[in-house]
Amino acid sequence: VKQSLKAYKDITPKRADGTVIEIAANLGSLEEIEAAQEAGAMGVGLFRTELLFMRHIHLPSEDLQAETYATLAKAFAPYPVIVRTLDIGGDKPISGIDFPVEENPFLGWRGIRMCLDRPDVFKPQLRALLRAAVHGNIKVMLPMVSGVDEVRATRLLIDECAAELKAEGRDHAAFDLGIMVETPAAVLVAPMLASEVAFFSIGTNDLTQYIMAADRLNPTVAKLNDVTHPAVMAAIALTAKAAVEAGIMVGMCGEAAGRADLIPAFVDMGLTELSMSPSSIQRAKKCVLDLGAAPDQHFP
Ligand code: PEP
Ligand code: MG
Repeated sequence: VKQSLKAYKDITPKRADGTVIEIAANLGSLEEIEAAQEAGAMGVGLFRTELLFMRHIHLPSEDLQAETYATLAKAFAPYPVIVRTLDIGGDKPISGIDFPVEENPFLGWRGIRMCLDRPDVFKPQLRALLRAAVHGNIKVMLPMVSGVDEVRATRLLIDECAAELKAEGRDHAAFDLGIMVETPAAVLVAPMLASEVAFFSIGTNDLTQYIMAADRLNPTVAKLNDVTHPAVMAAIALTAKAAVEAGIMVGMCGEAAGRADLIPAFVDMGLTELSMSPSSIQRAKKCVLDLGAAPDQHFP
């Protein structure tokens, strides 16, 4: 089966109306670039930056970050590379940030919440992303967003960073800003969020645990952690509808994005990007192809 799926590696899958469905890779480090390319990834739909922060004794410098994001962007250009800003909380502490002990870290000070409280951590990452955007097609997405205020506050910081870089005479470029939709709050205000950002990426791993009120790490409630539960599917559909109506791109980067049994439903809802572990990419391409449109046989 693996062998026959190889035939799908270089295909650009399309929806019946000709819209390209981008099958991208979820990556956590530069070491994974090659595997993603071998699999035929059409860019990166989620670059998790946590490892970069967890690997070092100190917070990674702006220069190290700029270099890392630039390497990633160059490797996949002209395809987009979506870098997620630091998504870390008390369950995965790192040196350089003092996390409070929390009773419910999954409901606590994590992701965009922590970053907005710590501009000394957030700004070097945003500056690094602005610098790296010169070298390829970088997009940036914010994790754990629950409302428009977080997006607006981030935009102010990005503007501040861009102004600083300009004053310093450093090369930088603007990037598209999007959000992960992974909290029930974000789903419920999706129409408002859609008018503020360039794209949505649905994070089904967290969205499922928060919609179902079932800890994703707790085996006792694993049965409830089911993306196919009608409540979760309804949340995904609502999110997609808000994006389609606003005319912004909507994709998915949770585990469910690679599920062959669900891809037809996601494409039907209007998702045009699915990001997954490299090992699922060829099967996902076949799956979209099987929906009916003639594919392009080569990378654009
Ligand atoms: C998600 O929540 O679906 C997601 C992709 O992010 P993570 O698994 O890193 O929380
Ligand atoms: Mg998540």
